[in-house]
Amino acid sequence: MSVANFQPAERVRSFGTTVFAEYSALALQYNAVNLGQGFPDFAPPDFVIEAARTALISGYNQYARSAGHPRLVKAIAAVYSPLYGRDLDPLTEIVVTTGATEAIFATMQGLVNPGDEVILIEPFYDSYPAAVLMAGGTPVYVPLRPAPGATSAADWSLDMDELAAAITPRTRLLVVNTPNNPVGKVFSQTELESIASLVQERDLVVLSDEVYEWMTYDGIPHLRLATLPGMWERTITLGSAGKTFSVTGWKIGWAIAPRPLAHAVLMAHQWIPFAVTTPLQEAVGAAFEQVEERGYFAELTRMYNAKRDKLAEALAAVGLTPVIPQGSYFILVDTAHLDPAHRDAPTPTDDPRDVQICRWLTREIGVAAIPPSAFYSPGHKVLAKDVARFCFCKTDAVLDAAAQRLRQNFG
Ligand code: PMP
Ligand code: GLN
Repeated sequence: MSVANFQPAERVRSFGTTVFAEYSALALQYNAVNLGQGFPDFAPPDFVIEAARTALISGYNQYARSAGHPRLVKAIAAVYSPLYGRDLDPLTEIVVTTGATEAIFATMQGLVNPGDEVILIEPFYDSYPAAVLMAGGTPVYVPLRPAPGATSAADWSLDMDELAAAITPRTRLLVVNTPNNPVGKVFSQTELESIASLVQERDLVVLSDEVYEWMTYDGIPHLRLATLPGMWERTITLGSAGKTFSVTGWKIGWAIAPRPLAHAVLMAHQWIPFAVTTPLQEAVGAAFEQVEERGYFAELTRMYNAKRDKLAEALAAVGLTPVIPQGSYFILVDTAHLDPAHRDAPTPTDDPRDVQICRWLTREIGVAAIPPSAFYSPGHKVLAKDVARFCFCKTDAVLDAAAQRLRQNFG
């Protein structure tokens, strides 16, 4: 082997750089207002930072319990037990992971055998297919379909016949993401009931990624798939402190599942990081203990609802018709009428149209957005050609700066 022609292992060879790394770098390079990668650009709440400060000086600096620091798993059980209508066992039904990202990876490692199929609904969070492939599984893709002229995320729906047709005897797992990144769709009771009945009929397990659980708007409730009849036994639900407390850099997430499924996740997790950073688990535990008295979740929802309205209005005002999200902190917009070829665009490439549009928005318009084709399989990337994703987990000043740049160019 020579270093010059060194090849990564086959399991990672096909992977490119993530869209988030690419567009954050591009935004910096062109000094664009960054509405690309979804991370809050504002400080987390004081009580959360205070909890971390206290944890660091109180001796929580050595390895944590592998499945999760006791204070955090107890706090998670206390917050979620009423929401699930059952007493969650903090010691056997919760696994704390290095962000929800590691929970996705550990779930695939813990549940998927080589050759198993995993159904991913498109557009998907981009780590799902990579995690399936690294476990030796085969992703099978079923797209959400927008109704013609869709202006609400509710107009994007899952064709249940298409989903049923994708299930084979090799199907092991279905991944559901509600509220969805990047569409902002919140699955309704009827939709979840249809999914639940199919999953039970075909004896599948579900990974329900609910990291945006506290971000639903206009009074639309977030429904937990695991709470539907017959679903607790076959659902692994994911949450993220990054989203919940605006601390994406802390990389603390969790999986909630019945004991046998939680055990499978733990068997993988114990060999991935072994355990998650102790002081920050202590801090998230302390933060969860305070959410009720502070009315924290209602406040978070109110803040994001206002930011969603602000960005949606700014986009609509310049003709970038938004698909109004019911949840999450992302907005898709219709870019069909934009033509970068007419505006100092770099030489057209073979890249998908949405990639060209988002590069152009970042470089020339000065507002970074993410091309949603990154959330589709190669065969379905064309479905994203006329959309771009903007995020609104940003300060009002940054959202206003983005609106101003859009007005200057499109107004
Ligand atoms: N799932 C979805 C749908 C996401 O958007 C994200 C955001 N990065 C994650 C999982 C990962 O969460 P974490 O930052 O906790 O790893
Ligand atoms: N979840 C965030 C997004 O979709 C970022 C995730 C990441 O950078 N890996 O923008």
